[in-house]
Amino acid sequence: MLGSKVLVVGAGGLGAPLLMYLAAAGVGTLGVIDDDVVDLSNLQRQIVHATPDVGKAKVDSAAETIARLNPGVRVVRHKTRLSVAGALELFSGYDLIADGSDNFPTRFLINDAAWFARKPLVSGAILRFDGQVAVFRNYPGGDADGPCYRCLFRAPPPPGQIPSCAEAGVLGALCGTVGSIQATEILKELLGIGTSLSGGMLVYDALATQFRRIRVKRDPGCPLCGDAPTILDLSVHENVAPPVCSA
Ligand SMILES: [Zn+2]
Repeated sequence: MLGSKVLVVGAGGLGAPLLMYLAAAGVGTLGVIDDDVVDLSNLQRQIVHATPDVGKAKVDSAAETIARLNPGVRVVRHKTRLSVAGALELFSGYDLIADGSDNFPTRFLINDAAWFARKPLVSGAILRFDGQVAVFRNYPGGDADGPCYRCLFRAPPPPGQIPSCAEAGVLGALCGTVGSIQATEILKELLGIGTSLSGGMLVYDALATQFRRIRVKRDPGCPLCGDAPTILDLSVHENVAPPVCSA
């Protein structure tokens, strides 16, 4: 575990529990990428940050919390937004990528970059009272039957259909539930134990208190991992408008 390197994209609602449990478990190197600063309104869910951290870069605040929790963990601070130009090189330095981002353009960029870099991707998502966790690693040499994110959600929705702010109206404790499951799946992937969630998606309905595990498969028509791919590099992301707001 000490030799493992995990990159967490986003030090927000999902990144917070992810970083804390991965640090507590002793993952040796944790990369954190985020370009945002801590706002008072974040604290209801982003428990890696506290009241004295308001105004600090989230990456710095998270690194300080991790240092108090487990000083043996090396934290690599990427105080920037994930870029098309830098994504492949960044991902290639890690064993596994964790998606704790809050917007669709970033989610698709992470999926495609992880696929090209041949790194397992453990994805978490939350909206209002619903959560999802999935593992994507169907790159060449990975799990041939499993899907990538694009097999399930072909392309980002048009800007007008995107909820105004992905995290507006998120139950804070739901971030803890989804982030903890995501952290568990990351530790399973790193240790090679149990049954991988690849090929399945866990869906949590907090209001109904229901978990469902859905079977998901590779889509032969997928533009990234399908039989006749049309996405051959990350250039498809170059003209994507940046999200309106962040976590
Ligand atoms: Zn695919």
